[in-house]
Amino acid sequence: MKKVAIEKKVLSENDKLAVKIREQLTGRGVLSLNFVSSPGSGKTSLLEKTLAAIGDQLNIALIAGDVQTENDANRLIEAGGKSVLPIVTGGSCHLDAKMISKVLPGINIDELDLLIIENVGNLVCPASYDLGEDMKIALVSTTEGHDKPLKYPGMFRRSSVMVINKIDLLGTSDFDVEEVKKNARQINANLKFFETSCRTGEGLQNWFHWLIDTVKTKKDRL
Ligand code: MG
Ligand code: ZN
Repeated sequence: MKKVAIEKKVLSENDKLAVKIREQLTGRGVLSLNFVSSPGSGKTSLLEKTLAAIGDQLNIALIAGDVQTENDANRLIEAGGKSVLPIVTGGSCHLDAKMISKVLPGINIDELDLLIIENVGNLVCPASYDLGEDMKIALVSTTEGHDKPLKYPGMFRRSSVMVINKIDLLGTSDFDVEEVKKNARQINANLKFFETSCRTGEGLQNWFHWLIDTVKTKKDRL
């Protein structure tokens, strides 16, 4: 009973901070996206491709969360990221709003179009932590089970977009794209889907166009 009460208090403090972050970003028309998935679904690879393709059209900042190492942040810098901040959680399996508000002053948000947060690879508790984002983007790769949305409903319920990644590997396992979409729709009928391969480039153009449009929509609301 006591544990539940503490958990609730921590989350409500998190939510208050998240509201502040969202206000700051929305006040400047900055779109913010929180990328979530299991480890190894290809979040960093998708972000590398995104930076390489549209990094000159949009002013993008990235926050890369990992339990250990700044490897992903370094990959994003190498892919052309001009404003990349690592968060090494040192054991915590999710990012929280406090961690984001600590690094946010290191980003010039006045000049920004898009803030991307790469969460720690984990489909469980990152679902409960609002980071002040506009949307959660959930990745599932074809090397996983197509029942992922049913196993981790909280995450898919709170996500706006689902990227089905590594579609170049379709046919090498029992993974079924229509099945994963059906399962995901059962949890969240409003999910928008993308099918991508960072290796072959298939489907990436649709993803880039949507991202540019969504950034523009957010700016236009200012
Ligand atoms: Mg990564
Ligand atoms: Zn966690």
